[in-house]
Amino acid sequence: MYASTDVGRFAASGSGAPRRGDLGAARLGVRGGAGWFSIPGFFGTPSPRRSPGLAVLVVLVAVAGCAEGGAEGGGRASSSIAEADRAAPDFRGDTAMALVRRQVEFGPRVPGTAGHRAQLEWMTSYLRDRADTVVLQPFTHTGPADERLEMTNVFARFRPDMPERVLLVAHWDTRPTADSEATPERRAMPIQGANDGASGTAVLLELANVLSSHSPPIGVDLLLVDGEDYAPDHMYLGATYFAENKPPGYEPYYGILLDMVGDENPVFLQEGYSVRYAPEVVDRVWRMAERLGYSHMFPRTHGIPIKDDHVPLNEAGIRTIDIIDFEYGPGNAYWHTLEDTLEHVAVDGLEATGTVVAELIYRGG
Ligand SMILES: [Zn+2]
Repeated sequence: MYASTDVGRFAASGSGAPRRGDLGAARLGVRGGAGWFSIPGFFGTPSPRRSPGLAVLVVLVAVAGCAEGGAEGGGRASSSIAEADRAAPDFRGDTAMALVRRQVEFGPRVPGTAGHRAQLEWMTSYLRDRADTVVLQPFTHTGPADERLEMTNVFARFRPDMPERVLLVAHWDTRPTADSEATPERRAMPIQGANDGASGTAVLLELANVLSSHSPPIGVDLLLVDGEDYAPDHMYLGATYFAENKPPGYEPYYGILLDMVGDENPVFLQEGYSVRYAPEVVDRVWRMAERLGYSHMFPRTHGIPIKDDHVPLNEAGIRTIDIIDFEYGPGNAYWHTLEDTLEHVAVDGLEATGTVVAELIYRGG
C-alpha cells in the first residue's frame, strides 16, 4: 500500500475528495469514449457456467482515530443472526487459508517475474472454472526505471446480466521491495505477500467457490487488480486502469476492497476514506459483522485514512470501502517486510471477512 513519499501527493489529491455532504452527487454517469470491450488490447473471455444445474498511501496521514458514540448509529436494531438463519452458504476459512498458501508457493507475484505470470495463469483458470464470465484486462505500465511492465486485471462475473450487483476487489500483485526492513540489503528483497496480496485474493477466490455452487440473488463481480504495490508513485495501477475503463454503465450498488485481512489478531477499524466516501456502506458492513458475532473484529472505531485501491474507484463514482487491518504484527512490524509470511497469517480474519461479505450478498447486497 503506500510509502511515505506519497504523503505530498495524498495531501494534494485529498483536498479534492468529496465531503460527506457531497456524496449524493459523487456518482458519475456512464463514461463516453472507449467502451469496455472496444479498448485496444482488451479481450473478453466468456466461459460457461461450470454447473448450470447448481447455479440456481498511501500514507499514514496524521489523523487521530476517534470512536463513534453508540453502536447502533440510527436505523433498525441489529439483532443477531443465528447460525441456522444464515442466508449464505458456508464460507470456508480453511479453504481460503489453503488459497493463501497456494499463492505464496508461486514466489513473489511481482510484475515482470515468473511468479507473477504463474499466479495469473492459475488464477484465471481457477476463476474460469467457477464464474459465469471471466474477463482479462491487460495493460502496460512504465515503471520508475523506465521498465515496461505487463499487468492484468482479472474480472470474474457471476450473473453478469443483472443490474443489481456488488463489486468485490483485492490486489493480487506483491511488492518488489521490503521497504520497511532495517537494512538496504533486506529492503531490496521482494516480500512474500502472504497477507499483503494473497489474503484478500484468497477470500475472493473462496467466494468464487461459494458463488459457483449457490447462485446468488444479485450479480457479483470479483475484481483482482494488478499493480497495487509496485513502488512509490506507482501504486493502485490496476484499480486506476479499471476505474478509467470500466464497463459502460457499470453501477454496482457498492464496492468492498479486502486488503491485509489475514493477520493473526484481526481488527478492522473503519478506514478513513471509506467513512468519507461511503459511510452508509461502512455502516452496512459493520452492522452485518455485529449480527454475525464479529463485533470484536469490527469495532465501530474510525481508523486513519489509508490510500488504497478503493480511492480511484470512489473517484470514478463506485462507492467502495476498504476492509483492512493496518496493524500487521506488533506496531505493524510485518508490513512491507520479509516477515509477511504464511507463519504470520491465520484463518480468523479470512473467515470473518468472507462470511460477512457472503451474508451481505445472499441477503441481496
Ligand atoms: Zn503493500
